[in-house]
Amino acid sequence: MRFPVFDLHCDTALALWDRSFTVCDSLRSNQLHIDLERAGQLAGYAQCFACFTTTFASMPEEITPEMVFEKELSGILSQININVDMIQLATGADDILTNTSNGQMSAILTIEGPAGFGYCPEKLEELYRMGFRITTLGWNERNILCGSCVTGGGLTDLGREYVRQAQRLGMLVDVSHISDEAFWDIMDITQRPVIASHSNSRAIWNVPRNLTDDMYRAICDTGGTVGINLYTAFLGDSADLNTVCDHILHFLELVPEEGHISLGGDLDGCDDLPIGFSGVQDYDKLADQLLLRGIDPKTVSNIFWNNAIEVMRKCSM
Ligand SMILES: [Zn+2]
Repeated sequence: MRFPVFDLHCDTALALWDRSFTVCDSLRSNQLHIDLERAGQLAGYAQCFACFTTTFASMPEEITPEMVFEKELSGILSQININVDMIQLATGADDILTNTSNGQMSAILTIEGPAGFGYCPEKLEELYRMGFRITTLGWNERNILCGSCVTGGGLTDLGREYVRQAQRLGMLVDVSHISDEAFWDIMDITQRPVIASHSNSRAIWNVPRNLTDDMYRAICDTGGTVGINLYTAFLGDSADLNTVCDHILHFLELVPEEGHISLGGDLDGCDDLPIGFSGVQDYDKLADQLLLRGIDPKTVSNIFWNNAIEVMRKCSM
């Protein structure tokens, strides 16, 4: 059985570029985890493309986070334009459904780490107008908004302002990468559904990038969703498709209502994928494995598509 795929996180916008940001690879056909020719074989496809920036990674001095952000954005937009026969930019649930019924794939712009625009809440309005619909508050570094899952440390006053501004605009706040303290600080003030675009279960694989059971329940309480990450470092030792199912089944056990699990593969942002999965085309194999593990087709279809659509719809209301 085949299901349309809505994936909440990938790093393809960065991976398309060479290290000096002079050559942008083709989104249509490439050697990465995601290209449109392979994604086009799925029963439907919507992909969040993150513009990822950090001050943490060692980069040559001339390559600033601002420049990286600009390159990722211009690169992915020009690739969408060049391949407009296959994929369109989408800014909401209705766009995605329209594109799908026209036989088109959808691209949604997202922010991973606001370093590329100085963590500035005032910049979010302009970015929203450009089409950005999801934002994390950081990556693995502590920044002026909050601490990370590596450093610890809660939400700052500026971080609070950032969350409020994003939610006022209708941009989803994404808690992947931040610290546990910052997570709970956001839960104290959130007015909207909160998502973790690419995080797994800490009960199944105990790493700080994953969510505790209480964190998962708290996200469900906001009406948000969690995108299952396919990076083996967040899945478990010798991870295969069954390991991915283990994380999903655990979340389903915690909150039986299945409206809170989605996909967030981290494709092109990780160097090691589970055995049996080598790129976007293999989402069909994950669906098969979930069915084999006894998950009913309606639940698989919600995990693969409807839950992410619904959270986007709730956010824009
Ligand atoms: Zn990430």
